[in-house]
This record gives sequence, C-alpha cells and structure tokens, in this order.
Amino acid sequence: MIDSKTSFLALIGNPVEHSLSPIMQNAAIKFLGLNLVYFAIPCKNDDFQIVIDGLKKINCKGLNITIPFKEKAFNLCEEISPIAKKVKAINTLKINHNETWSGTNTDVDGFKYPIKDINLSGKKSIILGSGGAARSAVQGLIDLQLSDIHVISRNESNLKKFLKDFKNFKSVRGCQADNRKTDDLINDSDLIINTTPIGMKNFNSNEEELPFGKNFWRSLNSKTIVYDLIYNPRFTELLKISEKKGCQIIDGSEMLVAQGAKSLSYWTDIKDIPTEIMKKAINKYL
Ligand code: NAP
Repeated sequence: MIDSKTSFLALIGNPVEHSLSPIMQNAAIKFLGLNLVYFAIPCKNDDFQIVIDGLKKINCKGLNITIPFKEKAFNLCEEISPIAKKVKAINTLKINHNETWSGTNTDVDGFKYPIKDINLSGKKSIILGSGGAARSAVQGLIDLQLSDIHVISRNESNLKKFLKDFKNFKSVRGCQADNRKTDDLINDSDLIINTTPIGMKNFNSNEEELPFGKNFWRSLNSKTIVYDLIYNPRFTELLKISEKKGCQIIDGSEMLVAQGAKSLSYWTDIKDIPTEIMKKAINKYL
C-alpha cells in the first residue's frame, strides 16, 4: 500500500508511453513487499537537467534512463561503474546519501541474455544505430567475440564519435546507412541488431516502417538472425519481414526483463530478483 513512507523509482525518457518497465518493476516490487512504487516520467529533451536536479531533492531512490538520455546521464554522476565507463552510456542511476548520483549500465548484460547460448564467436554482425543502446550492444558483441561488428548509422558525426570510443577494438567498424556497401554487409551478416527506435510504439514514425527504409533490406537472407531491441510492439515490421524470409528472430522482451532485474538489484541490493514474475507481467500485457 502507498503510505507516507513510500519512496519511488522512475523511468525518464522521451517518449516513455511505450514502456513496460512500470508494469514489470511494480510486479517485482509487490512480490518482494517493498515500500516503493515505479512510474514513468516523460521529459522534454531540454528539461532533462532541471528534472534530474529536482528528483535529487525528493524521495526518489533511483532512475532508469531511456531514449534519448543515456549518453547525457553520463555527465551527471559522481560515481560511475566500470561497465558504464567502458561503454559511455548509463541506463540506471541511484541516489546517494549526499544527494549525488551513482550510475551503471545494465543494458550490456541484458542485451547478451537472449543470445548467450548461441555460438557467435567469429561471426559477422551489424548494429543499426549509434545511440546509447548501440553502445551496449557493441560491448556485448565484443564480449561474445564476434569477428566483425559493423555499426550502420544515419548520422556521420555521431558515428565518428562512437567509433572513436571503440577504437581499441579492431572488430568494430562503421558505415553510413546510405552507402551501397550495406547490401553486401547485410547479405554476409550472421546477426543483425536494430537499436534504432524505428517500429517502436508511439515513436514519431509509422509503426509499419523499417529502419533505413524498405530498400535497405533487399539483400537479407534466411541464414541471418535478426534481433530487434524494441519490445513494444513485440513483433515489429522488421521482425515480421525477417521471419517471412526464414530468419531466426529475437524481440526485445527478454533483454527488457534481464536489464530491469539488474537495475532493481542495483537499487535495492537484493540479489534474488523474481524475473519470472516480471516476465509474466509483461507477457500478460504483450
Ligand atoms: P538513442 O540513444 O536515442 O539512440 C537511437 C539511435 O537511433 C541513434 O543512433 C539515432 O540516430 C537512431 N535513430 C533515431 N531515429 C532514427 C531514424 N528515424 N532513422 C534512423 N536512425 C534513427 O536511444 P537508445 O536509448 O539507444 O534506444 C534505442 C531503442 O532501443 C529504443 O527503441 C529503445 O526502446 C530500445 N531499447 C530497448 C531495450 C530493451 O530492454 N529491450 C533496452 C535499451 C533500448 P541519430 O544519432 O542520428 O539521432
């Protein structure tokens, strides 16, 4: 029951209306009997700093950070975990007693969870997008020892910055989305990961849309595994056309639960998080 001692956790992003984190986290919080509530805070891009500073002053225990603030959150923290430092993206913040933030990244482990049992060592991959989630995905693929990790992005300057941060890894390369080379890259790829929000519910594009347009996908073939980080809707247009081609498909729901469980553990220090309860809660919704 919410009472005068209840504190809160929240997701902050733009947009947040698609998010199933409140449903999943509140199910786990209820199961664990914690006096906490988790909700979503929509935040305009220019208001991020003001909102974050305000939250420090009230009974907020921690935050999840989503699109488009994962890189911005990096500059707010007094203390940053080694994995977040490595990828330069934060998806989880915790408030300290002296009103400072500690930050970590639970997306890298979350990302690896659904592909951890597939033998991907020495295989070729493509990551679409060069934002916060792409950083976690690239680190995940480095950990899983893929030989080729090609980041494809629409934005030249963001891509350059991204590649600079991973310059110590020979397997990580980049290419702009309008380069004809993408046909061969897609054809050769064992694993393609979408980290753009194209296809996500309530994102300001058509849900029927494909990342980088229909033509971009003409050389996709059935040997490729297609992993979309989007979980709402569960089957994006990209997953639908990939399944039709005969590809193995993976949606973002397992990653959602795996990263969410790690965040809840970070905020509460509880090791045994009820992931089955979280899964059940989102499956009911999806
Ligand atoms: P982000 O930091 O804003 O990055 C988004 C990336 O997508 C950027 O590279 C951006 O390019 C690109 N992009 C945006 N609109 C595009 C468009 N119309 N065409 C082509 N590229 C476009 O966001 P994020 O935090 O990485 O999140 C990305 C997606 O991953 C979201 O849908 C999010 O829900 C999902 N996600 C899911 C999980 C999960 O647990 N399943 C976890 C994390 C993220 P520019 O740099 O040019 O803007």
